[in-house]
Amino acid sequence: ATPTALMVGTGRGAQLGIVIRGPEVLESTRAVDTVVLDKTGTVTTGRMSLVETVAADGESVDDVRRTAGAVEAGSEHPIARAIAESASHEEVAGFRNLEGLGVRGTVGVREVLVGRPALLEREGLPLGPELLAAVDRAEAAGRTAVAVGWDGTARGVLVVSDTLKPTSAEAIVALRGLGLTPVLLTGDNERAARAVAAEVGIERVVAEVLPADKVDVVKQLQSEGRVVAMIGDGVNDAAALAQADLGIAMGTGTDVAIEASDLTLVRGDLRVAADAVRLSRRTLATIK
Ligand code: ADP
Ligand code: MG
Repeated sequence: ATPTALMVGTGRGAQLGIVIRGPEVLESTRAVDTVVLDKTGTVTTGRMSLVETVAADGESVDDVRRTAGAVEAGSEHPIARAIAESASHEEVAGFRNLEGLGVRGTVGVREVLVGRPALLEREGLPLGPELLAAVDRAEAAGRTAVAVGWDGTARGVLVVSDTLKPTSAEAIVALRGLGLTPVLLTGDNERAARAVAAEVGIERVVAEVLPADKVDVVKQLQSEGRVVAMIGDGVNDAAALAQADLGIAMGTGTDVAIEASDLTLVRGDLRVAADAVRLSRRTLATIK
């Protein structure tokens, strides 16, 4: 590949809203046959809203929401932002972020745990039937259920909802048109992931993956002989972005994700990922 043609490709990339780390990146883009997409903040907007709060028998919805919100105020996670938004600012001691699982902290005399329902179960705060039913309803509707509990008892469930980016379905069609197989990757529950996948036209879904395990999904695909592009936005995507043959960050995402990537889609529009593949193929065809 002649440096001049690659430089031209890089310049055209900038016009499309693609920041390319170096001209050589265009070469690896050409061979990609699989594209792994993070769900939250990549395929969806990642701007979650709190749509429902369910209290266990004998608890108040207001108390459940306030207590969960107080602890979530210490987290940057999109789910945490939705839950903390409406909360008053109560003091939290001993805040801890449990990466990909939830958060914990002490509010007044309460030792509070907020996160995946499975986290509460595992920590000895099992959900009663009315809360399990709420989780089931939420997940069946493609939403994310967050459980909250304190002092050994699950006290409520908060349901958050994300929205698709308007251009995601079109982007998947374009990526498929280039011969790429899309795979949706997320830490979220299986049913929420499947609902999003169905809406945008993705068949292969890997859900309930811990942040540290996302990189293994990329490695597994590579060991099957695939050349993998990974598209993500979060801190928890960084290792997978670095491992992928081509890492693509959302310009609207975290700096950590951008630093780990080869390409950045400045406006966070997934359709531009297809433009990048097209551009690299065209640029390299010119060179031959
Ligand atoms: P994603 O892969 O969609 O970016 P994460 O790995 O960040 O998701 O989180 C996976 C799951 O862990 C979430 O869907 C949620 O159930 C739970 N979770 C993570 N952080 C929090 C938090 N701060 N509060 C509540 N639940 C959380
Ligand atoms: Mg994300």
